[in-house]
Amino acid sequence: MTTPASHPLPLDALFLPAGVTGLPMHAEQSVQRCAACAQLLSPLDAAPDCPRCGGLLEIIHAPPRDAGGATLSATAIKQQFEQHCCARPLGHASGVWRFESLVMPGAGPSIVSHPEGNTPLLSRAAISRYTGCEGLLIKHEGHNPTGSFKDRGMTVGTTQAVRIGARAVACASTGNTSAALASYAAQAGIPGLVFVPAGKIALGKLAQTLAYGARTLLVKGDFDACLKLVQQASRELGIYLLNSINPWRVEGQKTIVFELLQQLGWNAPDFIVLPAGNLGNTAAFGKALREANALGLITKMPRLVSVQAAGAAPFARAFREDFAARYTVQAETIATAIRIGDPASWDRAVRAIRETNGIVITADDQAIIDAKLTIDGAGVGCEPASAASVAGVRQLVRDGIIGTHDTVVAVLTGHVLKDPGMLVELHQRDDEVRANRPIEIEPSVRAVDAVLREMHGSMS
Ligand SMILES: *Cc1c(COP(=O)(O)O)cnc(C)c1O
Ligand SMILES: [Zn+2]
Repeated sequence: MTTPASHPLPLDALFLPAGVTGLPMHAEQSVQRCAACAQLLSPLDAAPDCPRCGGLLEIIHAPPRDAGGATLSATAIKQQFEQHCCARPLGHASGVWRFESLVMPGAGPSIVSHPEGNTPLLSRAAISRYTGCEGLLIKHEGHNPTGSFKDRGMTVGTTQAVRIGARAVACASTGNTSAALASYAAQAGIPGLVFVPAGKIALGKLAQTLAYGARTLLVKGDFDACLKLVQQASRELGIYLLNSINPWRVEGQKTIVFELLQQLGWNAPDFIVLPAGNLGNTAAFGKALREANALGLITKMPRLVSVQAAGAAPFARAFREDFAARYTVQAETIATAIRIGDPASWDRAVRAIRETNGIVITADDQAIIDAKLTIDGAGVGCEPASAASVAGVRQLVRDGIIGTHDTVVAVLTGHVLKDPGMLVELHQRDDEVRANRPIEIEPSVRAVDAVLREMHGSMS
């Protein structure tokens, strides 16, 4: 099968052509456009979606230009990113703001940055062996300041909140978005409000949200109910919405792809594999690849693989039917970050999968736990949802779709400490053969010696 990489779209189809007139303020750099009806909005318009048709908004930038106004070549763009890596002061060294020209050109003094990004690309023999893919690389987004990739979207979303003078920011969240919002809102000095499903948020994420000082509303309903409520509240109460449908968050999350491509010397991998819930990241990855391809930063299009939890897989079901219909499900999975039954970024994600000759598969909770035990046991660690990507690689190698020697980047989306409750429970289960049960002992060296003997016995 061929990928669309050999036929990149003309720059004008993706980026603002020079000399377009009648556009709003700041439009020489970026505009917001409705993906459904093509309505154009000022980049400083706070509308959460298209005021005309309710469609999702997307950001379109002018292609990167030099001081004289000439469009930069791919080589010059790459050089700019390289120079930013060791920028002083540190602003542009952020793994998001290094790519400012493709994220939010002209953000300048408004930037609210931790900094974030600059996450490692790891290779671990135990995880490669587990999946059967020798070329497996792990992009660990759990190394972000609040422990998930959501920081990349939130640094840009919060910067936008500052640019438009928002009086408050809000999101619905399965937990990581709320932790990121709470942290960045605190830094910006803007009140933050988060809507999370009562009883369905992992302990670490709830703890962070409280610690950073966001107003935390435990909604008696699931994530999908939280999302509906926050959308209504933002419309009626004038709060700036920082959910993943926020087009600026998508811009920030694109940098996961830009950064991993830069780490690979702009040699695109064969596959990029990620967990998928609300599909914001799938959409962001697709947009990043489309733009990188159009700008000539890469010459080959990787295939995107979105992995859903089997109990929350409306997108995977639609994929099997060539996206003929859109589905919603009652979501249930141990991987709370992807426990979403009615994904918001559906259409954008369909486009991402189509344009990259992508694949959508599922991993059941047992496969997710199994992959997580391997990732954790290798000393890397991740939260349950993240392990879906490694489970997905293993499945696709077994299916003969990923080859042993293919270059594959699997994204780990969140940190191991995000869900300590699940871990403590898992490692005390009687029916889990890999459980690492804590051992209660008398305070004596003999007791320690007995444990050591037993460890050596079980290792030989
Ligand atoms: C948000 C999140 C996801 C899912 O990303 P979507 O953009 O909602 O598809 C996966 N893993 C973790 C850890 C997350 O926080
Ligand atoms: Zn519209």
